[in-house]
Amino acid sequence: MWRALRISFLLLVLVVVAAQAWIDRFSTTRWQRTVFVGAFPVSADASPVTADYLTHLDQGKIDEVSDFVEAEARRYGVDVDEPIELRLYPTLASAPPALNAGAGVLTRIVWSLRLRYYRHRMVAAASPRPQIALFLLYHDPALASSLPHSAGLQRGLTAVVHLFASRSQESQNRIVIAHELLHTFGATDKYDLATGLPKYPDGFADPRLSPLYPQQLAEIMAVKTPLSATDARMPDSLADERVGPATAREIGWVRR
Ligand SMILES: [Zn+2]
Repeated sequence: MWRALRISFLLLVLVVVAAQAWIDRFSTTRWQRTVFVGAFPVSADASPVTADYLTHLDQGKIDEVSDFVEAEARRYGVDVDEPIELRLYPTLASAPPALNAGAGVLTRIVWSLRLRYYRHRMVAAASPRPQIALFLLYHDPALASSLPHSAGLQRGLTAVVHLFASRSQESQNRIVIAHELLHTFGATDKYDLATGLPKYPDGFADPRLSPLYPQQLAEIMAVKTPLSATDARMPDSLADERVGPATAREIGWVRR
């Protein structure tokens, strides 16, 4: 009974929030004015390392992400001075609801509702209110050798991004943030989920390169740089990432 009530309540929240999200999504992929993106850092664990890292996190650590989006948008002829404004908000006290890797369909639905509700509360308390919310979950590298898969709500203008609370990882953190941000605009993954290798041609920054391998650059939704048909490496920074034509079409930079 209690569970049914809770789900009904979440469904009600979903209807309200989803309606707003549809309006936001329409306005965020027209690229005629600046889209406001909020980055909300939060600790994923109780580690003092993570807590200390978060006290030193500042806007300068994420600016490269908006610079990347701006430069790539310009390359595709997007005619707005500042396509996105990415702003770092103060660290949140509570983390977004977690989703277990092996979760079933119902669990996923409930999780997505809980995430929408969480987003609704966090964004309502933020000033100014962003149109897109990125929840940056920082993990102490000593406690997590690998990170949970980052996840977004395709039409919910929200992403939960798992990152390492470590200076040496900041450059790659920015790649992950940019990748998850583009998901919120409707971009799809362009790597093989089983192997992690970029898919040809859409996951290649330069699919017409001859010889095809090794590629010098990576496509942001494929993340890695293809070195051979069976090998790819994580680039050092966003400077080696590009938005490929397929991604540009998905997020509305190229109209067909
Ligand atoms: Zn992805």
